[in-house]
Amino acid sequence: MTLHLPTIAVIGLLLYFGIAVGFSLVMLMLRGQPVPRLWAASLWAAAINTAMFGLPLPIPEAASILIRNGFGMLSSVLMVAGVAMHVGRRPPWRAASALGGAYLLGIAWFSLVTPDLGTRLLMYGVVLTAFKFWEAWLLLRHAPAELRVSCRLAATVFLLDAALFLLRGLLPTAPDAGNEVMRAGLPIYIGYIGGLFVILAQTFALMILLVERQLVELRRLARTDELTGALNRAALLDDGQHQLALCQRQQRPFSALLLDLDFFKRINDTWGHQAGDDALRHSFRTLRDDLRSYDVLFGRYGGEEFVLFLPGVAMAQACALAERLRATLAAHPLARVEQPAIPLTVSIGVSEADVGASLDQLLARADAALYRAKASGRNRVVCDELAAGAGGTA
Ligand code: GH3
Ligand code: MG
Ligand code: MG
Repeated sequence: MTLHLPTIAVIGLLLYFGIAVGFSLVMLMLRGQPVPRLWAASLWAAAINTAMFGLPLPIPEAASILIRNGFGMLSSVLMVAGVAMHVGRRPPWRAASALGGAYLLGIAWFSLVTPDLGTRLLMYGVVLTAFKFWEAWLLLRHAPAELRVSCRLAATVFLLDAALFLLRGLLPTAPDAGNEVMRAGLPIYIGYIGGLFVILAQTFALMILLVERQLVELRRLARTDELTGALNRAALLDDGQHQLALCQRQQRPFSALLLDLDFFKRINDTWGHQAGDDALRHSFRTLRDDLRSYDVLFGRYGGEEFVLFLPGVAMAQACALAERLRATLAAHPLARVEQPAIPLTVSIGVSEADVGASLDQLLARADAALYRAKASGRNRVVCDELAAGAGGTA
């Protein structure tokens, strides 16, 4: 089969530019995000590289070789920088530029001093393989847990790319190719045809990475209370339901604490709504920081109410923890700049799930205990059933 290289070159050119344009639109959609910006720039550099490769230019051959390889390296450096940032690493600007720079020096040597097409193709294959391995390694080694699926898929594509580049670099050039890359034979076919496949697969891989990142972010937002950063009510109940069912299957205890800040309306009325918001944030953080060592589900249940689910924890331990939380908040008023600190206290109702109890029943019992805590003076813990014995301190 004889391939008509100029035709393939034109198709490749259109494809590369189409992809660069398309990805730039994606970048505009996700404005403000640096990673898509780096990838779009990388794809433009790749498109320019391809254009210079396929089209005859009115400049000396050696200059053309260096400039187009320069764009090729720019594309690789931008790509690996974007991949690193995507997985939360610092972009390896220096190392990547050093690799690209060393490659360009080699290309200059083997096109100006001792022209040798075979060596140039080999160098290109090896360096591109190195970049692709680097990207795949970053994706496999440093992927955050929630982005693992897309990172693995993309890494697979990058590894396929690496294999292709290596193959292309290792294949011998046609005997009559001389120093003309377009007559190199198999390596050039693989470069062109494989390149079309690679650029398409890689673009989808990049899109998949971005899509999963957006989904994860949306999911996080849907589960988070905007003011305090706590789990919101829906997420709290959802996770609570799940954990309760798990504990019941394993015949482990499951407790709930319902916490309600005392006289919160008064805080708003006295110091303003802004101070009220600060007090809510402060209360949540103070309590959460005290819970670091526990396996807990802690979230905002309503206005100034929080719920803590304790999988695997029975009533007595839950009551002791509640008492500790009450004391912690009482000891940490909201400090303010050049204004008096705002004292904060919380009343807490505690309940433990009976065999087969639903989450609603568990919360209703905690609510009844909380009601008793409020009625008996606030800033105290009341434990369901054990109220008389484990009742809190004022
Ligand atoms: P109690 O000790 O009986 O719980 O008294 P309380 O004032 O805390 O209870 P009440 O239910 O009467 O009032 C709760 C207040 O919490 C009323 C509401 O303005 C305030 N609140 C609820 N959500 C927010 C919020 O997001 N920000 C602010 N600043 N205040 C809030
Ligand atoms: Mg309330
Ligand atoms: Mg209250």
